[in-house]
Amino acid sequence: MTSILLKARAKINLTLDVTGKREDGYHFVKMIMQTISLCDTVLIKKVHKPGIWLKCDVKWLPCDERNIAYKAAALMIETFGIKQGVSISIRKRIPVAAGLAGGSADCAAVIKGMNDIFELGLDEQSLMEIGSKLGSDVPFCIMEGTALAEGTGNILTRLEPCPELNMVLVKLPVSVSTATVYKNLNCYELPFHPDTEKMLCSIKNKDVGDIASGLSNVLETVTIKMHPRIDNIKNKLIENGALGSVMSGSGPTVFGIFADRQTACDAADKIRAELKLKSVYVVKTEDK
Ligand code: ATP
Repeated sequence: MTSILLKARAKINLTLDVTGKREDGYHFVKMIMQTISLCDTVLIKKVHKPGIWLKCDVKWLPCDERNIAYKAAALMIETFGIKQGVSISIRKRIPVAAGLAGGSADCAAVIKGMNDIFELGLDEQSLMEIGSKLGSDVPFCIMEGTALAEGTGNILTRLEPCPELNMVLVKLPVSVSTATVYKNLNCYELPFHPDTEKMLCSIKNKDVGDIASGLSNVLETVTIKMHPRIDNIKNKLIENGALGSVMSGSGPTVFGIFADRQTACDAADKIRAELKLKSVYVVKTEDK
């Protein structure tokens, strides 16, 4: 095999809790992560000449060592003494800096793809360990599906697949830095916490209504202060039939869960038109 084309799928958080902070600034989290259908595509080709050639259809994203997909290729080449080179072509569809782990998904695709085309024979756990050196969401993007993340986000437990959820994702035209959101979070005085255990039961019972009503993310306490429109979007999703809505990750993307795809499509059309927003997507949850 000399080339491989992979989907790099985004993630959302059904719950996101922060339970404390380490002295070095890292936060302890408890969050339920879910893979969704929105994806970038990543084409990876083996080339004879040593080196890394990266291109991306989003012109303002860096294509050098600042790109996390480039970093993944460099780490794979160094760790496994790969003598040949790779060319990587990324078609981005996941909004950037949106709380959807788009960069981490590209990074995961490069790690998995290089394992295949260079026939390294590494198992998923080993790939996840390599990924953890590049970003805290990368191991989940390698694992995919539904998972509980604990510790500093590094302890992942695979969960039973979530029932298929029809969702609308809305991304405001602002970028949010995950580091800034965590820096401004007062994790010892949070006004609410998600009921993670209840969400775990709702997923197990495949109860869409209970999953929607249990959506919760403590990072909203910071990001909504920075961008109050996030709250309006959450309400707009509910007004248009969502069973529940919440911000994903550190934001600004908000999503709502709908009873069926048609209601989700209708809500997306209305929100696009009324709020004059371009980045509105109808997506669904996906298993591994
Ligand atoms: P997370 O939810 O994991 O915090 P995010 O969705 O908020 O991630 P990303 O889209 O991964 O954020 O982008 C974060 C930063 O990473 C951006 O500022 C961007 O410039 C940089 N970056 C580097 N490589 C990539 C890539 N391949 N795709 C997107 N962003 C990238």
